[in-house]
Amino acid sequence: MSIESCLIEHYPLASLSTFHIGGPARFFIEVLTIEQMIEARHFINKKKIPFLVIGKGSNCLFNDRGFGGLVILNRISFCTVCDEILHVGAGYRFSYLSSQMARQKLSGLEFAAGIPGTVGGAVYMNAGAYGEETSQSLLSVDFIDEKGTLVQEKKKHLTFSYRFSSLQKRDCMIVSATFRLKKSEDAQKRQRLYVRHRLSAQPYKDFSAGCIFRNPSQKKSAGFLIESCGLKGKEIGGAKVSEKHANFIINHKHATARDVMNLALFVQKRVRDQTGYHLEMEIHSIPYQS
Ligand SMILES: Cc1cc2nc3c(=O)[nH]c(=O)nc-3n(C[C@H](O)[C@H](O)[C@H](O)COP(=O)(O)OP(=O)(O)OC[C@H]3O[C@@H](n4cnc5c(N)ncnc54)[C@H](O)[C@@H]3O)c2cc1C
Repeated sequence: MSIESCLIEHYPLASLSTFHIGGPARFFIEVLTIEQMIEARHFINKKKIPFLVIGKGSNCLFNDRGFGGLVILNRISFCTVCDEILHVGAGYRFSYLSSQMARQKLSGLEFAAGIPGTVGGAVYMNAGAYGEETSQSLLSVDFIDEKGTLVQEKKKHLTFSYRFSSLQKRDCMIVSATFRLKKSEDAQKRQRLYVRHRLSAQPYKDFSAGCIFRNPSQKKSAGFLIESCGLKGKEIGGAKVSEKHANFIINHKHATARDVMNLALFVQKRVRDQTGYHLEMEIHSIPYQS
């Protein structure tokens, strides 16, 4: 079946985002294999349209107008483990992978328990928690480059820092990743502890995209600064600063992307005025593009 026959027009992005916000994508496709991802890349090059690859949409704020190109939902989700080497499709659920590996007494991804994204999103964002991050156990990343070629890049040729990977600067579609894990009897104990902590500290039942701002320093968290400015519970339109964790903006009452951005800007200004700290956005606000 050709890729064109699988495209859906005017697909609601709200249904693809943990925020439950966003207008329609002009075109949408779900990709299950690496070959389909390559085909999608050739289609994009032929039609010269903007594109966006997403996993769980758990770090994205889609525009109220939607997206004027092709949104690709990455569902490439195989998983193989040989000795302590894990090769996993980029559409695989990161949190599930964490518990699966911990059950097998393999350590390195326990921190991912409860991170609601995919492996591709985690590598792209260098997702992390509890002092650990995705890049630490990563060996290599496979992606489709701008010409539609499958490329394998070793970690040493990529750059990673706090919520950043150099893949963000490349026009690429991540299809799989390879990790080196370590045997550990305590992996499951740690992983379960992290889940319990998350459930008690974060607003898991609300619609959000996780932490809205990056922590400005290791000593001062964004959540601490926002809370110290008395902003817990602050609302603009349908968006609200969570009462449970001040660095989460939640879609409280049918919020629009504009409500979320207006509230984020309000928080940013108040924190700067009262504490001198500048908070940078952690979530990706996706412009309409056409
Ligand atoms: C309740 C909650 C808790 C969270 N806790 C944490 C946490 O503890 N730590 C943390 O780091 N994050 C956390 N997050 C944020 C989020 O889950 C992570 O950033 C996650 O890694 C995003 O993965 P995703 O698959 O949902 O990516 P998406 O949101 O779908 O995409 C994010 C970005 O990555 C790009 N991208 C995604 N997949 C690919 C791909 N295959 N190829 C190329 N580009 C791609 C997208 O284009 C987009 O720019 C949390 C979110 C929520 C809702």
